[in-house]
Amino acid sequence: MIVFTGAWICDPRSGVVGERDLLVDGRVIKDIGAPGCFRSLAGAIVVDARGKWIVPGLVDVHVHLREPGFEWKETIETGAEAAAWGGFTTILCMPNTKPVNDHAEISRFIIERANGLGGARVLPIGAVSMGLEGKELALLAEQREAGCVAFSDDGEPIYNAGMMRRALEWSKMLGVPICCHEEDKTLSCGGCMNESALSLRMGLRGMPKVAEEVMIARDIELARTTGAHVHICHVSSGRGVELIRRAKNDQIHITAEVAPHHLVLTEESVRGYDTNAKMSPPLREQFECDALIAGLADGTIDCVASDHAPHHWDAKEVEFDKAAFGILGVQTTLPIMLELVRGGRVPRERAIDAMSSAPAKAFGLEGTGSLAPGARADICIIDPSKEWRLSKETILSKSRNTPFLDHDFTGQAETVLVEGSFRKGAPQSADAPGNTPGGRAPGGQEASAKETEANARKQDARKQGTAKQSARNGTNLQGSVL
Ligand SMILES: [Zn+2]
Repeated sequence: MIVFTGAWICDPRSGVVGERDLLVDGRVIKDIGAPGCFRSLAGAIVVDARGKWIVPGLVDVHVHLREPGFEWKETIETGAEAAAWGGFTTILCMPNTKPVNDHAEISRFIIERANGLGGARVLPIGAVSMGLEGKELALLAEQREAGCVAFSDDGEPIYNAGMMRRALEWSKMLGVPICCHEEDKTLSCGGCMNESALSLRMGLRGMPKVAEEVMIARDIELARTTGAHVHICHVSSGRGVELIRRAKNDQIHITAEVAPHHLVLTEESVRGYDTNAKMSPPLREQFECDALIAGLADGTIDCVASDHAPHHWDAKEVEFDKAAFGILGVQTTLPIMLELVRGGRVPRERAIDAMSSAPAKAFGLEGTGSLAPGARADICIIDPSKEWRLSKETILSKSRNTPFLDHDFTGQAETVLVEGSFRKGAPQSADAPGNTPGGRAPGGQEASAKETEANARKQDARKQGTAKQSARNGTNLQGSVL
């Protein structure tokens, strides 16, 4: 058993907020109690977490892992490790791999590949249409059976409204959402940045907001008529937020996410033709950032999702209009949110909810996104004042495409556990169960990210050797580390 003591704990799901101690028993949360209440437990490892925040392990519902097919950009292993470093314990990966995840076999491949790795838990999102071509519906029931937790043609809109309707009818029956990349490409055609005075001045073709908004409006109506769950990916405009707000008022089953970069960066980042500021949907104006932040703060936008999109350098070291869309996200999502919390833009509890409980709830991920007794011990311990720099050395992803390179952040996930297993920052005492109170605060502060991660995994592996729960199930993450 492990006791985390002295921390500020926030569990949005159960409403527990304040100074508490947390008791973890093997793979599950055993209890939360008043400070010091687990002091007399014999044999428990005690981790001093004073000054830290303990929150449910973060959940990212929009990640591109690039495997199979584009392993030079990212693999399931490197993506899941980078995610765990960033505080995530569960990530959902989009199907635009090669081959596309439009078959149960590919979904199973991803799940099997992810098993036994040292990072975040990986859950696949299946394609809505075969090959993401929007022509023929994929075999949704088989993919669901294989473990897909949602469906999406992300990167592409589903133009055919009839197909979208059928897909929604299927997804309703299967109890999962369809995640929509909302973009009418007849409106955004060939655009590579926000359509504005700036795009005109820069001589770049713009992507108007209405390209996103017309599709959001259509899918809200399809959600209304089918009663199915539509999840809107990466909302980028205030008008989009307004449409979602009204749909929620009308009791339509709709949820939405926003990407951290759309909250803190504007089209001004594109000014120097920096291809690392090129994403889809594009960065907009400050007033849109403000509307998105307000929508996130009041819960209209349910969650924050990174839209982690690794690209090899040669896909970005080209002319702006030819460069690939997308940036890295899993290591910078939490620190960006912490910046917004410090600036008073998003209440602290709401920010934590938007990264953990809310996405877990939106996607029906049982036992995840909660610190309630009996929940999986997926835990993120945040050091809100840790100062660090995102550098080539601290990036764990295989790619480097981020506009935040060499940016100084304050706040970081210091310790991360997935089902009770340390994925980042194992305390020294976790090495030797039964060794004691006063366990050092977790995390080799001076060590590089890679060293910390490697150490955590080594300690974890050693710990697995002695922990009684390790033998329980060879196929899950904890039982098969290394
Ligand atoms: Zn997308």
